[in-house]
Amino acid sequence: MEKLSNPQVTIETIKKYDFAFQKKFGQNFLIDSHVLDKIIAAAGVTKEDVVLEIGPGFGTMTQYLAEAAKEVIAVEIDKTLIPILHETLADYDNVTIINEDILKVDIAKLVEEKNGGKPIKVVANLPYYITTPIIMGLFESHVPLDNITVMVQKEVAQRMQAGPGTKDYGALSLAVQFYAEPYIVANVPPNCFIPRPGVGSAVIRLTKWENPPIAVKDESFMFSLIRASFNQRRKTLQNSLVNGGIQITKEQVVEALEQMELSPTVRGEALTLEEFAQLSDVLCECRK
Ligand code: SAM
Repeated sequence: MEKLSNPQVTIETIKKYDFAFQKKFGQNFLIDSHVLDKIIAAAGVTKEDVVLEIGPGFGTMTQYLAEAAKEVIAVEIDKTLIPILHETLADYDNVTIINEDILKVDIAKLVEEKNGGKPIKVVANLPYYITTPIIMGLFESHVPLDNITVMVQKEVAQRMQAGPGTKDYGALSLAVQFYAEPYIVANVPPNCFIPRPGVGSAVIRLTKWENPPIAVKDESFMFSLIRASFNQRRKTLQNSLVNGGIQITKEQVVEALEQMELSPTVRGEALTLEEFAQLSDVLCECRK
């Protein structure tokens, strides 16, 4: 059977099922075989792998994953897509389709059941409206993972990969880079999808660190410092932290910056992940 990555097959499937795309579910289906090959290669999917696909749509990427992986678990929220998926994936006996909202799935439990708790790969053309909660949810709930290789909005990919001192650098960059090493695999133009999205897209691979790149005494305190610093990006770090809803005084911040030999007028956007970790540890000590 011709694959759905052939635009004609996707168009015929739309007609056959009289399928109406739902904007609220971020439905933009891929119709480019080169992009699909690139995604599978970047994720490094092999016959040893169990892959979680978030939002299979018609099953376009699922067909590629089923051929490359040992097993695919595809979680789709839109119930009208389920009978379509059963037809487009009928040739594959290694795909499990789950009709559920991914944000409500206990993924760690699923990985335990399907892969004995060993690391899986996550591969998806993500619904852009929930990119951050999906990715941070996977990291923060400590799902065993090799890598997450996903299509996201281009600007979001750039923010995930950005370093200190750049305009894209922010809380998302630091949160992602704490857990994984980001690598932008390809930029993907709107004409690779039906319907065409109003924004540019990019494939990004996030390779989970085996060991965290930095040590920090209180992870959640460090992230509250990071969020406060970037909530008021144009202010100095000192002012953002003191007015950021965290229980710290100006004197404590001044002292911490001095101890770290940072300028009192430094902005949060200049600090590396290591420096945020150090600041967090110093402030933790003086809050005691
Ligand atoms: N993988 C398909 C492709 O590349 O052609 C479709 C990708 S489309 C960008 C995003 C898919 O995610 C849609 O099928 C949409 O219905 C599904 N989706 C949206 N929100 C979801 C959620 N909360 N849980 C699971 N799937 C969701």
